[in-house]
Amino acid sequence: MGTTRITVGNVEIISLLDTPFELPWQIFFPERSQSDFEPYRALYPDSYGEGRFRTQAGCYAIRSRSQTILCDTGIGPGPIQFLGGIQGSLLDDMRRNGVPPEDVDTVFFTHLHGDHVGWNLSANGALNFPKARHLVPQADWDYFGKMLETNQQMRQVTPLADKGVMDLTSDEQTLTSEVTTYPTPGHTPGHTSLLISSSGERAIITGDLAHHPAQLDRIEWCSAFDADSGTTTETRRRVFDQAEADGLITAFCHFPEPFGRLLRLEGKRVFQAL
Ligand SMILES: [Zn+2]
Repeated sequence: MGTTRITVGNVEIISLLDTPFELPWQIFFPERSQSDFEPYRALYPDSYGEGRFRTQAGCYAIRSRSQTILCDTGIGPGPIQFLGGIQGSLLDDMRRNGVPPEDVDTVFFTHLHGDHVGWNLSANGALNFPKARHLVPQADWDYFGKMLETNQQMRQVTPLADKGVMDLTSDEQTLTSEVTTYPTPGHTPGHTSLLISSSGERAIITGDLAHHPAQLDRIEWCSAFDADSGTTTETRRRVFDQAEADGLITAFCHFPEPFGRLLRLEGKRVFQAL
């Protein structure tokens, strides 16, 4: 496990863990074989379970200009039967890390998949982040809003609109003078990252732009959950090329190491954890 707490200029970013989980390779990456990933095992041993893809539902808290921003809300309390009955523990992890849920001013969603919106509401429908505005990418709201019956995770999202605590976001939007939204579509139509820039230092929280660190090198490898593989691949190329060239600190919700930099090692683009 790498560093879980960093500063970027005057901004503090804290990684939060809802829960680790594992999936069969062929479910997550149906167009790839498990052996495709073997050349990357020595680089990223924590992304390999016993014959399964090992990953996690991770979130980030950002403290900037006296504001507390929570990026994504995990898979939720569960149990999630599809994933072997796992149960998240994000709220406990927030308290452990000094970020109590009632301190959150803004909840920002990179996208509206179920492993990113799970803790919005308690079992009785109360807000888990009671003073927060909740920022939802417009394109995801439009996309998933059409499929309410088949997308159970929207039960954690549509009540935010009914309660008047949700705002829609598109393009680049300033959250504080140091934190800006940055559309990175493809995984979902509205998938959006966060750029952090303070005192000459920069970082990007890229949500689900990649799930396995091998995808930094093999940007064309798409998961079953990438809605538009062509757009996802092009977005990966654009963002990863820039992150590598500029030496950005880069964060992914599903990587076991919460912060790293992209660099070249023996011809491969790799994730070097901080
Ligand atoms: Zn995800």
